[in-house]
Amino acid sequence: MRKSQRKKRTGKKGRFFITVLLVSAAVFMCVWSGLTGWPDACIISEIVKGGGRRGNESPETAGQAAMPAWLFDGGRMAFDFDNGSEGAYQSSLKIENTTGVEAGTVLSSGKIDIGAPEKYFTIQEIDDNIFKNVNGKSYHENGDISLNELRYLKLLHYNYEHEIQVGELIVNEKIAEDCRNIFRELFEQEYEIQSMRLVDNYWTGDSGETDKNSIEHNNTSAFHYRVITGGAALSEHALGYAVDVNPLQNPYVNLDRDGNPTQYYKDMELYLDRTSGAGHMITSEDICYQTFIKYGFSWGGDWENPKDYQHFEKKIE
Ligand SMILES: [Zn+2]
Repeated sequence: MRKSQRKKRTGKKGRFFITVLLVSAAVFMCVWSGLTGWPDACIISEIVKGGGRRGNESPETAGQAAMPAWLFDGGRMAFDFDNGSEGAYQSSLKIENTTGVEAGTVLSSGKIDIGAPEKYFTIQEIDDNIFKNVNGKSYHENGDISLNELRYLKLLHYNYEHEIQVGELIVNEKIAEDCRNIFRELFEQEYEIQSMRLVDNYWTGDSGETDKNSIEHNNTSAFHYRVITGGAALSEHALGYAVDVNPLQNPYVNLDRDGNPTQYYKDMELYLDRTSGAGHMITSEDICYQTFIKYGFSWGGDWENPKDYQHFEKKIE
């Protein structure tokens, strides 16, 4: 009799212990899934909460609907684009466009419809908001180019951490389609571009200094109403016909008679030897060069002196 009572007490303790163990395991796996990006583990949290998958939701879908987006970005804080007007389970997991998403924002890959990237590559006219950002900086009224001839592109690119990031660019309307296609193709091939912001984000109050500031932030950019580097003539950038890509690894190199660069940029000496194989250097072998050339652009790396390895242009009269 005593023996069986003791057994019974032991059984209760055992069940309690097992319950604690299971709940601890579920909590641990959920936290771990957030840190490692392993979504299936989060379904356990749904089961514990009495939820679980619904209808034809995939395990990943169920997990994402239940967890904050940042947990799905390897523990990094990332923007959550869930459509708030819909219930948690009906919320749109993929964003439809990047309208209203600031350039430079990193997106968790689960939010991108990777099978239909074209919707994230848009061309628009210069509206009042864009005008406010560029007026008096990269743009001011002039006799060479009007706002009607320029287009604002919103794009996606992989950054140097290989995360998907929102980018922006202003180019001449005549090459806007080409640029959209080029950067979409580069995105599809996961080509890395560190930053793609308007130069106005690096405005110093001086056009030449701003250009240098943008370059030293390794920023890819296009339109900037300015003169050429070290000269007085209008740059192709002033007409929106030129794009500079990953400028730190692809410097503007103008050599003097002694063979020394007349203009110095951060870490420039690391990228003067174009055969070194250093990352993100544009050569005639890589897909960046090949894609621009396919769309009829010419490359500054093919010039004699100066050589401008970051620079692609396509001028249409
Ligand atoms: Zn350039």
